[in-house]
Amino acid sequence: MRATEKIWMNGELIDWGEAKVHVSVHALHYGSGVFEGIRCYETPAGPAIFRLRDHLQRLHDSARIVHMEIPYAVDELAEATRGLVRRNGLSSCYIRPLAFHGYGGLGVAPTGTQVDTVILSFPWGAYLGDDSQENGISAAISSVRRIGPNVIPHAAKATGVYLNSMLATMEARRAGYEEAILLTEEGAIADGPGENVFVVKGGVVLTPPLAASILPGITRDSVLTLAQSLGYSVEEKSLIRTDLYLADEVFMTGTAVEVTPVHAVDDVELGVGPVTRELQKAYLAAVGGRDERWESWLDRVV
Ligand code: PMP
Repeated sequence: MRATEKIWMNGELIDWGEAKVHVSVHALHYGSGVFEGIRCYETPAGPAIFRLRDHLQRLHDSARIVHMEIPYAVDELAEATRGLVRRNGLSSCYIRPLAFHGYGGLGVAPTGTQVDTVILSFPWGAYLGDDSQENGISAAISSVRRIGPNVIPHAAKATGVYLNSMLATMEARRAGYEEAILLTEEGAIADGPGENVFVVKGGVVLTPPLAASILPGITRDSVLTLAQSLGYSVEEKSLIRTDLYLADEVFMTGTAVEVTPVHAVDDVELGVGPVTRELQKAYLAAVGGRDERWESWLDRVV
């Protein structure tokens, strides 16, 4: 991780090295935080943050699901984010807003703790390695099941949920795969540890519905819109393991991985297909400000 100059913390820009918390903060013990992952891209008209307000709205939605009150409105956080990226002088970067129950008590119910809000921004390249977008990644269906709606609501991007993602990722890497794909307890395809999953079959673009324990991905939503604009039929449909094995193409989407082809699932070779390539190209053009139809998705930093 590359340090940048400033971090926004509770309304102030402070030095990277000074952004510290006490070891007794509630979130450190119980995973009681909500967060976002956002990217800022270099565009011909200057740096632009992709779907900033949608990400910050999801942060507020996540907080609402876990009964947390973030002391800053979406507009205030958007302004803070733009100011931070400007101040750190970054033309492209990853942005990590986080709100968590902080100092003040270690009872499981977070009474008496304050909610702390921070935003980090730092340079971050391809999440799954430089050649992942070109050549695709290998994925394995995990023995770790995706947390379900009545365990911890999966629609919340909550910090504690990511132990689930961490265990699935580590299992996949130990077995020599680059990424995991998680199933629901019922055996339906859910999502990856930090990505949504797509299948292309007979020219139709398919992805599991929100009810399949997935995070409602903003890249997923963007790709569904782009696919329709390119003339593809899209379907949110419950999928099972063999739908991946028998797919024409499989790919993953997410802020970190963008559109990444999956060339093999559980050692079933699928290769990298033309629909994935087309959607990848369309997505990178949209985020990079090279397709004016999607200009409303961009939030200029300057
Ligand atoms: N699923 C999970 C579990 C995730 O953590 C992420 C990353 N936020 C996604 C899907 C993709 O979401 P997005 O496209 O909004 O980054």
